[in-house]
Amino acid sequence: MKYQRSSALFAAAQKVIPGGVNSPVRAFKAVGGTPVFVENAKGAYLYDADGNKLIDYINSWGPMILGHAHEPVVNAVIEKAKKGTSFGMPTEIETEIAALAVAMVPNIDKIRFVNSGTEACMSAVRLARGFTGKEKIIKFAGCYHGHSDSFLIQAGSGAVTFGAPNSPGVTQGTAKDTLLATYNDLDNVEEVISANKNEIACIILEPVAGNMGCIPPAKGFLEGLRKLCDENNILLIFDEVMTGFRLAAGGAQELYGIKADIVTFGKVIGGGLPVGAFAAREEIMNHLAPIGPVYQAGTLSGNPLAMAAGLAMLKELNEKRDIYDSINKKTEYLHKGMEAALNSEGIKFTINRVGSMISVHFSDMPVTDFESAAAANNENFKRFFHGLLNEGVYIAPSAFETWFICDALSYEDLDVTIAACGKVAKNLI
Ligand SMILES: *Cc1c(COP(=O)(O)O)cnc(C)c1O
Repeated sequence: MKYQRSSALFAAAQKVIPGGVNSPVRAFKAVGGTPVFVENAKGAYLYDADGNKLIDYINSWGPMILGHAHEPVVNAVIEKAKKGTSFGMPTEIETEIAALAVAMVPNIDKIRFVNSGTEACMSAVRLARGFTGKEKIIKFAGCYHGHSDSFLIQAGSGAVTFGAPNSPGVTQGTAKDTLLATYNDLDNVEEVISANKNEIACIILEPVAGNMGCIPPAKGFLEGLRKLCDENNILLIFDEVMTGFRLAAGGAQELYGIKADIVTFGKVIGGGLPVGAFAAREEIMNHLAPIGPVYQAGTLSGNPLAMAAGLAMLKELNEKRDIYDSINKKTEYLHKGMEAALNSEGIKFTINRVGSMISVHFSDMPVTDFESAAAANNENFKRFFHGLLNEGVYIAPSAFETWFICDALSYEDLDVTIAACGKVAKNLI
């Protein structure tokens, strides 16, 4: 595969952009090498600056669930752009997409749109604190909720008591209000709650974790959290930035039949434009300004182009519900095929999959939390990543990311991918 032009573009970018990228994972730090610069994309394929065609398993980290440059979405944006791109005043389309989202997702009455998943999660936590009058939050090690200060926290010395900043710039003061718990470990959550009685506003989690590879919730985990929240007057926040409109029209709440108090969205809900949102029942959402005391705002929130893309995307998903069956079947086919290909070379691996989220960890142990994800063989992942890239298959450039399957993938694409896995597996250890 040729990389000359991507290499030159990366060198130029590094002179004026820190690390050459506007979001760190794009820089290939976890796998080494030069990031691929994209020229354009259509359906399941990326075309890079050197003219390579790649089968895409990232799909912009989730939004392009129907494939790139999906026509109803692109056309909606073009038509809207002709009428002006931002007003800072209310528009009818905001109500349209809000009503559709509320109809598709269980347990929500009102929704507020923002510009990213980060903003959605940050605002959801503020709302939870404002609503409960309590200050501490529980998050799980390995779950990602965007880059706002409260979430850039690692386990501190007394993990049960409070966390420590995991980035310079996050203050100790902020860190002490974020408590870290272990994913899929209810006993640990219970311990953290009892050590901080009556101080916890909310528990926030990815109902299916996608930011340490794909990690499904263990049987009873989500139910157990719901119960602990009810018993302790804690709000349960499902961060559905990845899972929302992907695992089902109603997201993980629908798939698992669990009711969250606040739900956050991003990725699919914007159809590829910068959109996030958070939603809850009316009693909670009415705490937000301008009708309630909890402040939250945004100059470009509800932007007409972003709303047009999001609305076109949600309409497609709402009208063609068999899309979920279709992408889930494709993902299952990929799962079985990769499993056979890796097994035939005697490789140690674990594939986790929920719906159209899937990832490969090079470990022979079950991967159920951050610790077991981190214990996998990263050298093999690097070889796997670069081997597949060389075969024209683009997966996430880090073992700590899930792959996102889109419906534009054909079974022929999946067969090409599986064959590439078989070939690459010969170079794994
Ligand atoms: C991507 C992601 C976010 C952050 O969204 P941005 O739009 O990147 O700010 C938050 N939570 C989860 C679960 C995500 O996957």
